Amino acid sequence: MDTRYVTIDPAQAGREDCEELREASRILQAGGLVAFPTETVYGLGGNALDADASRKIYAAKGRPSDNPLIIHIAETEQVKEIAVHITEKAEQLMDVFWPGPLTLIFRKKELVPDSTTGGLKTVAVRMPSHPVAYELISRSGIMIAAPSANSSGRPSPTCAAHVREDLDGKIDMLIDGGACKYGIESTIVDMTGEVPTILRPGYITKEMLEEVIGPVAYDEALSDPSAPPKAPGMKYTHYAPKGELTIVEAGDGASEQDVICRINQLAEERRQQGYRTGILATAKNAVYYRADEVLTLGEREDEWMISANLYRCLRDFDERGVEYIYSESFRSEGLGRAIMNRLLKAAGHRVLLV
Ligand code: AMP
Ligand code: MG
Repeated sequence: MDTRYVTIDPAQAGREDCEELREASRILQAGGLVAFPTETVYGLGGNALDADASRKIYAAKGRPSDNPLIIHIAETEQVKEIAVHITEKAEQLMDVFWPGPLTLIFRKKELVPDSTTGGLKTVAVRMPSHPVAYELISRSGIMIAAPSANSSGRPSPTCAAHVREDLDGKIDMLIDGGACKYGIESTIVDMTGEVPTILRPGYITKEMLEEVIGPVAYDEALSDPSAPPKAPGMKYTHYAPKGELTIVEAGDGASEQDVICRINQLAEERRQQGYRTGILATAKNAVYYRADEVLTLGEREDEWMISANLYRCLRDFDERGVEYIYSESFRSEGLGRAIMNRLLKAAGHRVLLV
C-alpha cells in the first residue's frame, strides 16, 4: 500500500479545520492504521476495539501476537468503558499524571478483543499529553491501540523519519509532529494486585508514584533477567541496534577515567580486527573517546536529555554501519533506572565491569 505522509504542527493541532486530522480520523474509523507522535515515542494506531485493526498492527510491526497493545484514550471516563476494578489509588494516579507518560493495567471488560490484549484478561491504558495524539483520539471518537511505531525488535521511533524507515508501505498514514519530548516509552504500572507494581520503568519514577499513593513495587523481572516479566513485551529482545552493544561499568574502586580507558581499548581492539566501532558517551567525556563514531547522549546530570536522545543514537549507529558499540553506564535510580533498563535490553544484558 502507499503510505500517506502529512505534517501537523503540534501548536496547530487544536484547529477545527485541520484537514489532515480529519483524514487520519476517517482512516482509523475505517479500520486502517495511522502512526502519530506522542510525548514518549511515535505510536502505530488502530481501533482498539476492532480485532481486525489490532491484527493489522501486529502484522505491520512483525510483533509477536502474545505481546499486548496499550489503549490510548482522551478522557478519563473512557477507562470505565474498557476496564473494571478501578481502585482509588488508580484514580489518584490518573488525576495527577494523566495526560502523560504513565500506563495503568486493569482487568479488562469483555468488549476489548483478545487480539488487542494478546490473550490477557487485563488491559493497559494511557492518556497521552501530546496535542496531536489527543486530538486524533478525541476527534475520531475511537480508543486507539498504539504500540511503538517501529518494526518489532528495533529501537522505538522518536521522530517521523524513524517510522518511515521501518513502516513505509505497511501503514495507511504517518503524521509527522516533530521529535518526541521524552524519547522512551511510558512507565507501566500494574494496578490489579495488592501493591501497585512497576512493570516497565519510565519518566514517571517509583518515587513520583509513591508520593501520591504510598508503596509501589518493581516487577522482580526488572532486576533478574531470568524471571518471567509480567509485561509480556519485556521478555523480547528489544530496542536493539544491529551492532553488538556492551555497557562498560565502573566496579568497586574503579574511576570514570578507568571506564574511559577500557572503552577506548575495547574499541581499538575491534578496529584493528577491521570492524566499524561506536561509542555512546556523556557530553563531558566525549572528547576523550577514539572510535569511528562517537555519539553524545547529553550531560550525565540531564537524564531527560539522555532519554530523549538514546534511541536516535542507537539508530544512528545502524545507519553508519557500526558493528561494535560501547556505552557508559547510568545510575539505577529515578529516570536513570528507565535509561539503564532500555540500554540493558539493547545490549542483551552484556555488561563489562572495570
Ligand atoms: P509498546 O506499546 O511498544 O510500548 O509495548 C507495550 C508494552 O506494554 C509491552 O511491553 C506490553 O507487554 C505491555 N503491556 C500491554 N498490555 C499489557 C497487559 N495487559 N499486561 C501487562 N503488560 C502489558
Ligand atoms: Mg515497543
